[in-house]
Amino acid sequence: MAIETTTYDHIIGGSRYAGQGDRVADVYDPATGATMRRVRLASEADADAAVASAAKAYESWAEASVTARSRVMYAFRQLLVEHETDLAEVISAEHGKTIDDARGEVVRGREVVEFACGVPELLKGEYSDQVSTGVDTFTFRQPLGVVAGITPFNFPAMVPLWMHPIAIATGNTFVLKPSERVPGASDLIARLYAEAGLPAGVFNVLHGDRVAVDALLRHRDVAAVSFVGSTPVARYVHQTASAAGKRVQALGGAKNHAVVMPDADLDHAARQILAAAYGSAGQRCMAISAVLAVGGIADELVAKLRDLTLGLRVGPGTSPDSDLGPVISPVARDRVVGYVDQAERDGADVVVDGRGTTVPGHDEGFFVGPTLLDRVSSTMSAYQDEVFGPLLCVLRVPSLGTALELVNANPYGNGTAVFTASGGVARTFQRQVKAGMVGVNVPVPVPMAFHSFGGWKDSRFADHHIHGPEGVRFYTQAKVVTTRWPERADRGSTGFAFPTAS
Ligand code: NAD
Repeated sequence: MAIETTTYDHIIGGSRYAGQGDRVADVYDPATGATMRRVRLASEADADAAVASAAKAYESWAEASVTARSRVMYAFRQLLVEHETDLAEVISAEHGKTIDDARGEVVRGREVVEFACGVPELLKGEYSDQVSTGVDTFTFRQPLGVVAGITPFNFPAMVPLWMHPIAIATGNTFVLKPSERVPGASDLIARLYAEAGLPAGVFNVLHGDRVAVDALLRHRDVAAVSFVGSTPVARYVHQTASAAGKRVQALGGAKNHAVVMPDADLDHAARQILAAAYGSAGQRCMAISAVLAVGGIADELVAKLRDLTLGLRVGPGTSPDSDLGPVISPVARDRVVGYVDQAERDGADVVVDGRGTTVPGHDEGFFVGPTLLDRVSSTMSAYQDEVFGPLLCVLRVPSLGTALELVNANPYGNGTAVFTASGGVARTFQRQVKAGMVGVNVPVPVPMAFHSFGGWKDSRFADHHIHGPEGVRFYTQAKVVTTRWPERADRGSTGFAFPTAS
């Protein structure tokens, strides 16, 4: 299964749909800088068409048995296995990450489908017999209707898969607005759903930019919005869709700290932090971008990190010899370089310098090499901002308490990790740190699909975390039914006092 088109159309009601506008955007190969394809940018009328298709499909999909919905998920899951390489290749080509890394995101996304296969169990309600004489009560959950997902460029398959399998398995219909920079994975996923037997219109892909997002956020027939992306847009999506009366979950950006204690196994910590900082060229919301070296270990830890970083190979994501690929755009590359320049001017040590990295044969690619800064202070912009590139800052701190103060003062609170040999230190850290996902000797503590994913503070604007049990709650609403089936002899008594159990 390959991408054959030169321009990605929307996929609405099971068919390709060019839309009513003529706006398009280029889709780049970040390793060469060349335009590979183009993607349609939806108009408001195109968003209306996608929502109308989903609303029509909802009428029958919400009535499909939970077993039928589960079977579609099983078939879809099998197709994701069979087409793992196809998906990984298109992700790598458009995003720039290595094929192995792309394969990993497909697998982690597939795990949400495996969770959604269990929807008959997930939707089992609660029943109370004889709550009053002759009266029973039961609670069950029903879908919301048409729900929308708006997703970022950095996980073209996995982040949308956090959303749509659970939404669809619980009986909703879905409009996905993927990142316009990486549309290919969603095109393939739509084809796999159709092959799995999902009725047309249950899963729709609307390509576009802010115009499409705004139309979905305000659309009368969209019941709920799931968003993952940068913090300013997450805040905007949360406020706009909430004001329009929708249920919203909006996950934002991050600045994830690894705290390395003096008793940690430094070889293990350095190797783990290396992968967490530079994997996917640092373009992960759970990437470690700040190391807090506690006590006197900083020199030794920085030396180990330097040696490992110097061994990394930068190249196109499609090459098996690359450890990390390019970043998504020239703007993203220049942004990373700008932060390094500024930190250097402010007094940080540039231990490994990725500025000016070139890859032979890929002169126009958006490459920046892994960069390690030491003696960074908490006032430097490279520490304060989400850089979203292969830049790791080391800050030297005297104690666990100071480390916790720094992590907790940071406006973001997505993930964090502590490296230590002490159960007591780990317990203090996990209880006192203000972040939604915590690793103990695990640098990227992304929960499995049967738990829920979400940060704290400016990393999430919503009541619900994403996927897992909270995903099921987000995409459904509870109904509680109280029943009485009176025998003939019981009929006829009328009471005007507020009813109590008898
Ligand atoms: P982004 O916020 O620029 O874009 C995300 C989505 O919003 C895209 O579909 C885009 O088309 C749309 N969008 C962009 N600007 C918009 C605007 N002004 N109004 C309405 N819609 C708009 O994010 P990105 O650059 O694609 O992705 C990287 C960001 O996503 C990073 O900040 C990263 O931390 C974050 N992220 C967070 C998580 C998480 O789970 N918390 C996961 C992955 C990525």
